[in-house]
This record gives sequence, C-alpha cells and structure tokens, in this order.
Amino acid sequence: MDVLVINCGSSSLKYQLINTDTEEVLASGLCDRIGISGGQFSYKPKGGEKTTQDVDMPDHEVAVKLVLNALVNQKDGILKSLDEIKATGHRIVHGGEHFTHSALVNDEVIKHIEECADLAPLHNPAHLLGIRACQHLMPNKPMVAVFDTAFHQTMPPRAYIYGIPNEYYEKYKIRRYGFHGTSHSYVSKRTAEFLGIPLENSKIITCHLGNGSSICAIENGKSVDTSMGLTPLEGLVMGTRSGDLDPAIIDYIAQKENLSTKEVLNILNKKSGVLGISGLSSDFRDLLAADEQGDLKARFAREVFAYRVAKYIGAYTAALTGVDAIAFCAGVGENAKFIRGKIVSHLQFLGITLDEQANLDTVGKEGIISTKDSKVKVCVIPTNEELMIARDTRTLVLGKHL
Ligand code: ADP
Repeated sequence: MDVLVINCGSSSLKYQLINTDTEEVLASGLCDRIGISGGQFSYKPKGGEKTTQDVDMPDHEVAVKLVLNALVNQKDGILKSLDEIKATGHRIVHGGEHFTHSALVNDEVIKHIEECADLAPLHNPAHLLGIRACQHLMPNKPMVAVFDTAFHQTMPPRAYIYGIPNEYYEKYKIRRYGFHGTSHSYVSKRTAEFLGIPLENSKIITCHLGNGSSICAIENGKSVDTSMGLTPLEGLVMGTRSGDLDPAIIDYIAQKENLSTKEVLNILNKKSGVLGISGLSSDFRDLLAADEQGDLKARFAREVFAYRVAKYIGAYTAALTGVDAIAFCAGVGENAKFIRGKIVSHLQFLGITLDEQANLDTVGKEGIISTKDSKVKVCVIPTNEELMIARDTRTLVLGKHL
C-alpha cells in the first residue's frame, strides 16, 4: 500500500511517499517558504535525481497540489495515477491527553487537534492546514493523525505531574507530555530487535539528539519518563533551546533587560542552547569545525550538551532501576562521534566502556559502540519517524488495531 506521509510546519511541508509492503521510500521532498516569497519546491523520486524549483506557494493547498502533480508527472513521476495513494499520514505534534495512539481523521479528531492548539500554538494549526488541504484535494482518501505525544501517554503520574498546585493540572492540564514519541517508539523497538533482546522485558534509554533533543526511559516497550515537558523547551540543552533551568531566571532576565516574559521565552526557545552558549551556531557541524580551529566556546558548548545528556541517562537509569541498552539517534546522535564519546565517558560507573573504533566507524548507520564486555549495550539506531507514520496509517486504514 502506498502512503503519503506529510509533516506540515507553518511555512514548510515535508513529504515522503512510502510503499508500506516493501517499506521503500518511493519519493520525498520539501515545500519551503509557504506563504512567504521565495518559495522552493524539491522532489526526489526513488533512484532519480533531486530537482528543486523556485515557485511561490501562497498556501498549503498549493503546496500539496505541487506534491501531487510531481508524483504523477510524466517525466519523473513515480505514480501512474493518484489513485495509487491509498491514504495520507500526518505528523501532529500535540495530542494532549486525548490521544494515546494514532487516529483515523474524522471531524471529532480534527476538533481535538484544534483543542490541543493551545498547547502547541506554532505546530497544531499548521498540521491542520495540511489535513484540510489533503481533504480538499483528495476528498475520499483516508487520513491518519500520528501524534508526537501519544507514545508518552503511558507515563505514570509521578513522572508527568509537576511540583505545582494540583489545580493547574486539573484546570489547564499542565503536565509533562513529552515529544519525539514516534522516534522514541521506533528506536526502542528497533534497538530490541537489533540487539536480540525481548522488548516486553527490557529497560532501554533512547537519546534523540537533533536540533531539538529529548531522552526517554522505556520499560518493557512503554515510555515511563521523558525529558521534554508541557512544551519542547524542557530537558536537554538543545540547538537553540535552553532545556532545564531555574524558572526564576525568566523573571530575572525580564526585569534586568526590560523584556516581557513572552520575549524571554522567545530567547529561551530560539537564542539559547549551544547557540547561546557558543555565541556561534546551533549546528553541531559548525561547532566541531570551530572547535578544531581552537574556539574554546564551541568546545565548551558541546561539553555542556554532552554533560546534560549523561546526567539524564543517570537519572533514567534510576527511573528504570537499571538499564539494558542505550540508543542514540537523530542528526547528532547518529553522526557526532565526539559527542557520543563524551557522553559515554560519563557512564563508566554503569560498567560501560566505549569501543573507540566502533564509535568512529558508526556514522549514520546501525551499530554497537560499547565494548563486548560492557554491562550495558550502547548503540546507534537511525530514527525513521516517517516509516512509523506510514506503518500506523496502513494499520488503521486496514481497520486493524495498533
Ligand atoms: P531535527 O529533525 O530536529 O531538525 P536532525 O535530527 O536532522 O534535526 O538533526 C540536525 C542536527 O544534527 C544539525 O543541526 C546538526 O547539528 C546535527 N548533525 C547533522 N549531521 C551531523 C554530523 N555529520 N556531525 C555532527 N552533527 C551533525
């Protein structure tokens, strides 16, 4: 079954057409700068060249139309007819407490996604634009919503309740939700498969380290704790986000710099993390290059990042009362050997030793980077959120349960 996977941001739309029988990516690409001048559309068919086109896309519907036209284009289209697409799967950031699994889209599901927009004002409205565009252009094609938060709905209350008056949870549902759930779910399953351990009797810590980063404690296949919170701002030091800090800092900066809390939050989301610490870049490739040129701030930012990850692994080992495997994924986790080495150097107390050569050799592919005699296996497992979305879409469209 061919499934079109769509990940809509407010001004971008990433897509992949996936054959769910072979799990092959048939085509992929990006619509960038939707609603802004200077739009760009890219398309890459399986086995073919990537093409990029300058084209303004006033709204998401125009963007989806470009995707559909490209897929059936006579020159390098991969489909004979749009009827071959059996369903679309949409990535949705926030599903609140309502969605514990992916869901077939209907009016009620749309209403709940709208209600969760309060919790993810930048994301959920953009996802809805994508859903509406598909609904309009492919009226009878089933759609499935796959939520970043759903995997974490198995967390026990002791992990998701904040130490604030309980009325705020009752009135406003202020609690830890966690994100990157599709990635943590995929990587934990694949880690168990790859290492040959039974998922239903395992303790796994997954480290999704990308632009946004989060870490998850997974017991017997279920999320029991995760580092992001009500919003993706909490937890690890990220590319541009601060992660954990003393909440009093917000008012302190606001007073000193004469800013509103909204403006301070914007700084914590967009100008902090390794970008803020290094004063240079949020991209770990830039930081590595600067570090090699002797830039001490770039080196320090990477150390702060690695230290925070190691600290969370320690905490989650306690949360799980032990750990069988630790997995790294996403841009930094899959590629940044130095960062992985730094993190693992903090974990000797768990009986883990880094296999230096394996760490150097394992870039962008699956592999074990701990030595054979390490008590806990450490591995790299490239994430694949689109494939998870396609799998869930297929399952629900076939009328099966997840
Ligand atoms: P997201 O999906 O959160 O936008 P990714 O998982 O694609 O992010 O990760 C992107 C980040 O991964 C980049 O900002 C960069 O810091 C890092 N990255 C990608 N490739 C490498 C590499 N070869 N070495 C070090 N870091 C890398």
